[in-house]
Amino acid sequence: MANPTQASDFTPGRSVVFRNATVITVDKAGVIPDGDVLVTGDTIAAVGTKLKVPDGTVEVDASGGILTPGFVDTHRHMWQTALRGYGGDWALSQYFVFYYLQHGEVFRPEDIYAGNLLSALESVDTGVTTTLDWSHALRTPEYADAAVKAFEEIPGRFVLGYGNYLGAPWEWTADKDFQAWVKNFATSDMLGLEIAFDVPDSEDFPEKAAFEYARDNGLRVTTHAGVWGATTDVGIGHMFDAGVMTDQITYVHSASLSPESYQKIAATGGTVSVATESEQSAGQGYPSTWEIRKYGIPASLSMDTSVWWSADYFSAMRATLSSDRSRDHLEAHRNGETVAVNRMRAEDVIWMATMGGAKSLGMEDKIGSITTGKKADLLLLKNDQSPAMTPILNPNVHVVYQANTADVHSVMVNGRMLKFDGKRIGLDIGPARDAVAASVEFVRSKLGEQAWEEGMHPPLEPDEEIENPYKYAD
Ligand SMILES: [Zn+2]
Repeated sequence: MANPTQASDFTPGRSVVFRNATVITVDKAGVIPDGDVLVTGDTIAAVGTKLKVPDGTVEVDASGGILTPGFVDTHRHMWQTALRGYGGDWALSQYFVFYYLQHGEVFRPEDIYAGNLLSALESVDTGVTTTLDWSHALRTPEYADAAVKAFEEIPGRFVLGYGNYLGAPWEWTADKDFQAWVKNFATSDMLGLEIAFDVPDSEDFPEKAAFEYARDNGLRVTTHAGVWGATTDVGIGHMFDAGVMTDQITYVHSASLSPESYQKIAATGGTVSVATESEQSAGQGYPSTWEIRKYGIPASLSMDTSVWWSADYFSAMRATLSSDRSRDHLEAHRNGETVAVNRMRAEDVIWMATMGGAKSLGMEDKIGSITTGKKADLLLLKNDQSPAMTPILNPNVHVVYQANTADVHSVMVNGRMLKFDGKRIGLDIGPARDAVAASVEFVRSKLGEQAWEEGMHPPLEPDEEIENPYKYAD
């Protein structure tokens, strides 16, 4: 019998075959029981059963496991990972105060780098093979270089959403240093570029110039929309009237919009990035999947920011499916009815997590499904000792409601194995941990101990007690 496969077997140029997995292809082949997937170079070379493979191919025993396309996150403020968990008790107003007035005054390019490095490592570690970095703190191209440096050190697939929330988008996109930076930016399959900015209510829609810059330079735009009270139907109305709504736009959240706005997004081919943990906690409106599906708008999933909530993509899938059903139930109960059949299925969530993400990034020809000819971005969920991983009866449901990050056995990006048998290959956490520790130390000392503590624990008025006419007595 051959020796068991080890991490050291995955040498550059060597083909890899995953054997006997339950393969969720997310294409027309559906779910393949006892399926094999052959990877040569950076590409999926064959998908089927009992595949014949070239001599020297590394065999991965994927039996008892589920092989899925790598997950795609279409909106993550990766730089904020440097302060992971700091704002877990915030409301939206505290977030704005902290990032605009306090942290916004002090952070440096190395703080962007630190957060991005940790976040990028976390993405690939947990099977998120492509992440859009909604990087809205790039004050100057020097900050953007720091963001990109992290992506050069972690071999995942990334898209930099270039943004600068401390400036006006029609000004910073017109800046010659920014424009020169974009011209020099070498886009590749591993690193893409978009423009990231929001459209708050205004009379004259100055953001039009930023949309035109993006269009003229072939760049997609990602924008927060339908954040209750902040980016509303007014902005969508301006965008539509100006003709800048196209299939090149991703609308993040889109939780508090009118039917007309959803129709405009649908009619122009836009996609929505749903960040359920974020929408539920920050008061942006109800997670929009239940609404946008009425209009046929495709959704992708995202984590938003781990300064507040988790970056656990399994949590996003679970929360999205549950919130969608919860809303359907509430709507039915309002009419004195009950939901007889759940409309959203686990399979729909898996689609959002993979192909929906690929579509939102304009990469549906390259990633998002296990299809011959596509880039080999793969996630193997297999944990033979986990009670949660047996039996596997309904694979799509199993991924959404049963599996978790501890079941991430193997992660492959662009044909390169980054994690095998539950352990990353040559991607130590040390550099990211040290960079983040230095960043925390710096921010904390700049803010001062009192502001740091108050920022973490927003003051709370005592609850008003309701008079209770009933009394308990022995
Ligand atoms: Zn966001």
